[in-house]
Amino acid sequence: MAPKGFTIAGHPHPAAPLAPGVYIVATPIGNLADISLRALATLASADLILCEDTRTSGKLLSHYGISTPRRAFHEHNERALSEAVLAEVEAGRAVALISDAGTPLISDPGFPLVRAARARNVPIFAIPGASALLAALAGSGLATDTFAFFGFPPAKTAARRKLFASLASRAETLVFYESPHRLPASLADMAAAFGSDREASIARELTKKFETHYRGSLGDLAKSFAGEPVKGEVVVLVAGAPDRPAEKTEWQSALAAALARQPLKSAVEEIAAAFPVPRREIYRVALALRQGQDG
Ligand code: SAM
Repeated sequence: MAPKGFTIAGHPHPAAPLAPGVYIVATPIGNLADISLRALATLASADLILCEDTRTSGKLLSHYGISTPRRAFHEHNERALSEAVLAEVEAGRAVALISDAGTPLISDPGFPLVRAARARNVPIFAIPGASALLAALAGSGLATDTFAFFGFPPAKTAARRKLFASLASRAETLVFYESPHRLPASLADMAAAFGSDREASIARELTKKFETHYRGSLGDLAKSFAGEPVKGEVVVLVAGAPDRPAEKTEWQSALAAALARQPLKSAVEEIAAAFPVPRREIYRVALALRQGQDG
């Protein structure tokens, strides 16, 4: 049998054999060059590639001279196929999973397969690479130390508004995928729920020729996209809720009252249990309040 491998600009690269397992392989989100050498070697060496859409993935695979057999594996058949796929892995085969773009399982098929594999102790290897979520976040200019990802907001207006209302006071950067035709409605609902002054960023067509980043307040972004469906794929990022001074006053006055009743340590414990404020911060303010009382 000919050794397995892939090509880059026509140059052959051999691929080492793989241990049996499920390989979750990230593929590009637009620019075909955004794929790792390990991902290519894995796809070339696998016995089978599960593809969300065999034709879409065919373009990537033929670009890199990879002729591994493919099988369709998408949201409509993934539950039914997972057990059979795992039986193949248990029989010694290496099976790779790819989606149309980016990292499988991130708003893409694969979760039932990985759950079932973990339950059966079948080895799983994740080969990291592109994801629109992280590329958009890294380029957004919004806080990256804490963020939360919600995939696609619900298509139905009432459910979407309910979700946004529940997120209005979250302090971390909020990241959403959105379809271009729903973007105007989503931005309008976000501006209503989060406030039109809230800073936001829209990443469009990441890694592609017409990559564009829009930044501004939710109110301004909602206005500029109103009625004009954007072309291409988008990620919407919203800054976390600002620290509200009213909340600060509330826990600080509760702390002052608690200090009047009991020792500093138990007052800090009481406030830490009642408010979402770091214990260190409560302790610092308690010390300052005590010093103020003493002085
Ligand atoms: N698994 C993919 C990933 O890791 O990013 C996401 C798949 S999800 C079905 C597709 C959505 O991802 C799009 O609707 C868009 O919100 C976002 N997306 C994918 N590629 C993108 C790109 N090149 N630019 C901006 N957004 C993109």
